[in-house]
Amino acid sequence: MQDKINQLESFIKTLPIVDHHCHNVIDKQPNIELPLAFVLSEGDSINNPLFLNQLKSTLIFKRSIKDIYKFYYDKDFIEDQEENGEIDENIIENEINIKRNEIGTDNIMREVFTRSNIEAIILDDSLKFSINSIELPLKSNLWHSQFTKVYRVIRLETLLEKSLVDAKIKGMTFFVWKSYIEKLYRDTIDHPIDGIKVVGLKSIVAYRCGLGVENPSIQKVLEEFENVINEIQNVTAATTAKTNQFNYRIENKTIINFFIHIAMGVSSTLSRPIPIQIHTGFGDSDLSLELSNPLLLKPLIESYPNVPIVLLHCSYPFFREAGFLSWVYPNVYVDIGLAIPFLSINGMKTSIQSMLELAPIDKIIYSSDSHYIPELFYLGSMWARNIIFKVLSKSLKNNEITLKESKEFAFKIFKTNCLNLYKL
Ligand SMILES: [Zn+2]
Repeated sequence: MQDKINQLESFIKTLPIVDHHCHNVIDKQPNIELPLAFVLSEGDSINNPLFLNQLKSTLIFKRSIKDIYKFYYDKDFIEDQEENGEIDENIIENEINIKRNEIGTDNIMREVFTRSNIEAIILDDSLKFSINSIELPLKSNLWHSQFTKVYRVIRLETLLEKSLVDAKIKGMTFFVWKSYIEKLYRDTIDHPIDGIKVVGLKSIVAYRCGLGVENPSIQKVLEEFENVINEIQNVTAATTAKTNQFNYRIENKTIINFFIHIAMGVSSTLSRPIPIQIHTGFGDSDLSLELSNPLLLKPLIESYPNVPIVLLHCSYPFFREAGFLSWVYPNVYVDIGLAIPFLSINGMKTSIQSMLELAPIDKIIYSSDSHYIPELFYLGSMWARNIIFKVLSKSLKNNEITLKESKEFAFKIFKTNCLNLYKL
């Protein structure tokens, strides 16, 4: 048996990976060092020193700072520090920053993608980054394509916000806006920018009004459209045209729910319905966790049985619920990102193992949910390989699966399930 376990381990270590959910790397300006505690968590800790400080005593921070140090220096920091009796994380972080500046973002990315054997990524480029309300630039999608094959997902809420700002500026009536957003949506999914193809949709409805997505009556949508248009303030044609930016955040449940139904309705009529990734489970304090339980998605899942829905983030802490949904609904898939690498080792293992109590292996998709720094691609792939190995080797030991099956399962989770789902 040990020989089989070893074979599985070395197989998983070298597997090629396709990462179906991640975000853009920051365009590092001189003098900007992102605190690791901020990048290794969710939320606005960069603008809140108390919050940032408490994150330094999480297991994910303790573990990842050592992992990143090892990535750069190829040795354990702990060995150097042991004699002093304690590990000073400020020194580790400082040494990491020295290497980062020395090597430069391009070379770090190249090294990360080579070492992690990442063949393709699907970017959600709607995640922005700001310090003290000043938005800082991120690397373009095209820049990422130097290192790997790149695809995109379209964030529905961002498209919706743009259409509403345009409606305000151009004085559109409800029905003009409705045709406009339908066309905008179709054009966006049909036309690659810089040769980067849109292969999926993404929704963060959990953050705005919760996962209990309803299908509102047209009368109700019409009324709420008027309210939303009246809400949009301080947006002028001049600033929009100049910066191509808009500063409006939609939270109106009726309008968001309406657009999700439009998007999924259109998807369901396509010969190959376009999958939708939905944020479920944990995130930052902007989220009401009780409204992020994927079980709330039942009516939406049932309304579009041919549209694949991917429950992001292992739905943590609702991983069993996610596993159940993927078991009973052919159109539900589950993602393991964010849970890996953002939980403790035990948390990562428990989440994946619990989800697998029911989830079909063909429906489990790898992602890193990397954002801002290249090293997250590395941590995500390294820990996912480690955890998937732990979970599959346990089933192998229990004679639940054979060695051949365990290798096939790993290959599916890291690559082929994603290729099949997004038709890449
Ligand atoms: Zn994400």
